[in-house]
Amino acid sequence: MVSIRRLIVNYLRKQSRNASKTYNTFSKLQIAYLRTRFMKPLEQLFPLLTEPKKVVITTHQKPDADAMGSSLALRLFLLDLGHSVTVISPTNWAGWVDWMPGVREVIDYEMNRQKANTILDEAEWLFCLDFNIFHRTKTMTDKLKELSCTKILIDHHQEPDVASFDYGRSDVSKSSTCEMIYDFITESGYGSKINEEISECLYAGIVGDTGSFRFSSAHQGVHKLVADLKSKGLNHGPVHDRLFDNFLENRLRFVGHVLLHRMEVFYEYNTVLIAIPKSDLIKYQIKTGDTEGLVNFPQSIQGIKLVALVIDRDEERKWSFRSKGDFDCNTFARKYFEGGGHYNAAGGRSSDSLEKTVKRFMEALKENEQILQ
Ligand code: 5GP
Ligand code: MN
Repeated sequence: MVSIRRLIVNYLRKQSRNASKTYNTFSKLQIAYLRTRFMKPLEQLFPLLTEPKKVVITTHQKPDADAMGSSLALRLFLLDLGHSVTVISPTNWAGWVDWMPGVREVIDYEMNRQKANTILDEAEWLFCLDFNIFHRTKTMTDKLKELSCTKILIDHHQEPDVASFDYGRSDVSKSSTCEMIYDFITESGYGSKINEEISECLYAGIVGDTGSFRFSSAHQGVHKLVADLKSKGLNHGPVHDRLFDNFLENRLRFVGHVLLHRMEVFYEYNTVLIAIPKSDLIKYQIKTGDTEGLVNFPQSIQGIKLVALVIDRDEERKWSFRSKGDFDCNTFARKYFEGGGHYNAAGGRSSDSLEKTVKRFMEALKENEQILQ
């Protein structure tokens, strides 16, 4: 029998797919209320942690340090409690996260779909970390939607699809999902289980998502957390080396080429645009993760409010947006490029050609001229 919950979930999904449709059955207020009914607080899971379960942990495509760090830290913690745990990544990942404890056990869904699907079918708990809407898992999306196991969200992005999760915590004030995993472990009463390996994973994600502690999201609680990780044996220096000094020569030459030839500064909009054609990726043999951090370089120019980076990937044009001050990247990415994220850092996509995508961006800039002054 189809449960009322499932009917409502399907209805909410349908209306979120077609936002322009008028609401026939529920008012917006009712929907907001119904949404709050779905995702039960994470604390309600704590008493269940002692019963061994088959657990799958997944995260967003092309996992960054926060996505991979939070997944592997949670894996180590749950293994210690006696659960059977598998981390499944929707895609491959960068070399600068490929050192994390347990990363060799992670299944790449694109490379090993059959094995991953079997494990997903048997899962009793599915943890979804560092993303909040299934389509961020790319080709895993439909599979995750069809699973009937208990789905748990732990994430810090805006506008979660709460109707899709049974338990969870979504908190945009958190610096990183790694901070939230630290909270999960300590609040559940198992803080003493945080060892050196878990600390390395958590620290890497926090460093990654706070821009090495420079963003305002690095609140005092984050520094206290790091102090606690240090007391548990964290050796932080090598983590920075593995994250930031872990590329090949060609990547640095690529950065030089891009800043010289692909960067445009629009002072009238206080904006920098970098558009990278596929030919550059081929010429410099760019691998997953080699473009990470590129979007941060133009922020060093005085007065720049918005940096936009678009890369011509095989299947789509992928955007990264970074802003300073009161320009809302999340809203911008959602409105113009099917994306989202945080207030000062977001991403998006486009199926148009690179040229057409850039043209649309320039039109969007004009529409936002006033906010960018
Ligand atoms: P990045 O530019 O580093 O890829 O992403 C910046 C932030 O935006 C990250 O928190 C990332 O998870 C989020 N993000 C990136 N791309 C997308 C997207 O297509 N959709 C949504 N909702 N968030 C995205
Ligand atoms: Mn994150």
